[in-house]
Amino acid sequence: MRVTVLGYQSPYPGPQGATPGYLIETDEVKLLLDCGSGVLSQLGVHLPVYEVDALLLSHYHHDHVADVGVLQYGLMVHQLFGQRPADKPLPIYAPDKPEGQTKTLTYRDATRFFPVHAETSLSIGDAHISFLRTDHGDGDPCYAMRLVANGKTLVYGADSGPGTNWSGFVDGADLFICEGTYLDHNLPSRPNGHLSVRQAAELAQAHHCRSLLITHLFHGYPESDVLAQAEAFVAGPVYAARIGLKIEL
Ligand SMILES: [Zn+2]
Ligand SMILES: [Zn+2]
Repeated sequence: MRVTVLGYQSPYPGPQGATPGYLIETDEVKLLLDCGSGVLSQLGVHLPVYEVDALLLSHYHHDHVADVGVLQYGLMVHQLFGQRPADKPLPIYAPDKPEGQTKTLTYRDATRFFPVHAETSLSIGDAHISFLRTDHGDGDPCYAMRLVANGKTLVYGADSGPGTNWSGFVDGADLFICEGTYLDHNLPSRPNGHLSVRQAAELAQAHHCRSLLITHLFHGYPESDVLAQAEAFVAGPVYAARIGLKIEL
């Protein structure tokens, strides 16, 4: 399995940047996890847009879905050009709420919406995916994803505050993609649905993850500060997200 960071910044993309989006390639399928602002142009660096097999969305905040509309236009045009079968809409797996948002995910013959909830488990080619509701947002669900393929386990933590119950979901993951929205100096006194870099490292270490990718970072954070504050994770390699970073599992 190969992970490519297409975007990792939040809440908005810095110069030449992109908000969250990750390309996951298994032996059989190419999956896009989240589709934030700038992700589509980064995706094109690695493969044609029409070769994606499915899109999975963690939640509907703009930094995770901003490029869905242009992806739909792109697929429609590629169907017109004959590069993607007209009868093969891209499946979009996404939370079943809020309803107003779910309605935007089916677009002509380009995309089809499939609802996800905490009990959903699905297989796309050789990738087996389950979901966990995280501590995030104002009542609407946000789902972390556990993706297993060819004996390797990837957990994408989506957006998640310290109230998330990770037990049994992230333990032993070969790679945990975990948000580290804050550095020590700007961590709010009251949790607001996000973690700091330090908290992400402590979480990954406590759950015996084998490697850690810290993401959902403000674009101005120095990489050296991110890595320094991830010192609690000593079980394996730790990466600060950057656009184009590839990790092989
Ligand atoms: Zn969010
Ligand atoms: Zn976010």
